[in-house]
Amino acid sequence: MATMTKAQAKKKLEKLSPDSHRRDCPVCGDHIYDSDPEDSWEYVKTKGGSEIFIHRFCVKMWGSNLSPKEISKLRRDKA
Ligand SMILES: [Zn+2]
Repeated sequence: MATMTKAQAKKKLEKLSPDSHRRDCPVCGDHIYDSDPEDSWEYVKTKGGSEIFIHRFCVKMWGSNLSPKEISKLRRDKA
């Protein structure tokens, strides 16, 4: 599987419209913005071929029992 550099992933992110649902982090539901620090999010291509952008913090919260809203708050409190 080809790996993508952060610069390439960032270009993909910037191609999305500012309100695209593809910017939604699948864990907390918040948008990932062009202005977010590059080390605060990850680009993941799933086995099914979908491309997702996810906060690095949220990767660790995947499968948690907390609601997206609670995870979002935790993430923002940490930032
Ligand atoms: Zn998130």
